[in-house]
Amino acid sequence: MLPTDALLQLTPQGLYCEAAGAWIDPWRPVPRALITHAHADHARPGCGEYWATASSEGILRKRLGAGIKLIPVDYGALHRIGEARVSFHSAGHVLGSAQIRLEAGGESWLVSGDYKRDADPSCAPFEPVQADVFITEATFGWPIYRWRPGIAVAREIVQWWQNAPERASILFCYAFGKAQRVLAELACLGISDEILLHGAVEALMAPYREAGVQLPPTRAVSSLERKADLSGRLVLAPPAAHRSVWMKRFKTPQTAFVSGWMAVRGARRRRGYERGFVLSDHADWDGLLSSVRESGARQVYVTHGNSDGLARYLHEVEGIAAEPLGGAFAAERGDNEAAANNDAPDGA
Ligand SMILES: [Zn+2]
Ligand SMILES: [Zn+2]
Repeated sequence: MLPTDALLQLTPQGLYCEAAGAWIDPWRPVPRALITHAHADHARPGCGEYWATASSEGILRKRLGAGIKLIPVDYGALHRIGEARVSFHSAGHVLGSAQIRLEAGGESWLVSGDYKRDADPSCAPFEPVQADVFITEATFGWPIYRWRPGIAVAREIVQWWQNAPERASILFCYAFGKAQRVLAELACLGISDEILLHGAVEALMAPYREAGVQLPPTRAVSSLERKADLSGRLVLAPPAAHRSVWMKRFKTPQTAFVSGWMAVRGARRRRGYERGFVLSDHADWDGLLSSVRESGARQVYVTHGNSDGLARYLHEVEGIAAEPLGGAFAAERGDNEAAANNDAPDGA
């Protein structure tokens, strides 16, 4: 639990900083929200005002409404909010994702949001930031998780797709973040074929193109003739479309799912995909440890995934004061299986 006099407190609405009069990624509507990124479990509708990075503005307005009151901030810029000094720093997770650093009363806290350390051509790289206290996620906080580079996974995807010229290849992935990362990796490999998109993915492409992310040409499947030949085409779609009526127009497609959860034994088969590609937008075990070390924090709180295990490791092996941040965080989505669910809103 957080000490009662700590800079941040856990309230029914979420993490609260009284000095700033603001909540970070609140679970319920609040007057002032500081948003780490635009995934649905971090950015929710109904708040009075949203502070978020300028590069996340396009997605946030798409998802929460064009009329939200949004104060766009640049990475690294220092803002005075109430009595606190607040800055947003790149988290390397998805376009516009940020860690949020708050400072007041001579103490500094860093809230990671979701983050990763691996290179991702669709967003800015993770920036190591120092603070007295670090609240880190641990979605993949087990030593068995060690990611391969995205470009290597993209090569496997291309091989899978191009080896089946007689079928459509439907690659399922989270609509925000993962889909655009895969597309950007394909562009890095020199792929210039037109890639087809489910409407949920297509709807989020404009902010990426406006941000200057290099991507292959894309088109909504729905804009094609009903009888169009889709053999040999690569199609990106969200997991919710798997086995839905949307699938009907594809004759005998091959299917795959791309997610960090594909590293879990049996996960692919359980969900009925022919192939699984392991690609995560969260830090792996080494990425979590290096981020904690680089933060220089004397106290660490851990949320999501294996919060108990990572906290114990930090304490026993690294000698850092660390504990899981319990309460609503644990109840909300600490469970591995829940997060592995097809409908998990988070871009794992
Ligand atoms: Zn998340
Ligand atoms: Zn996320």
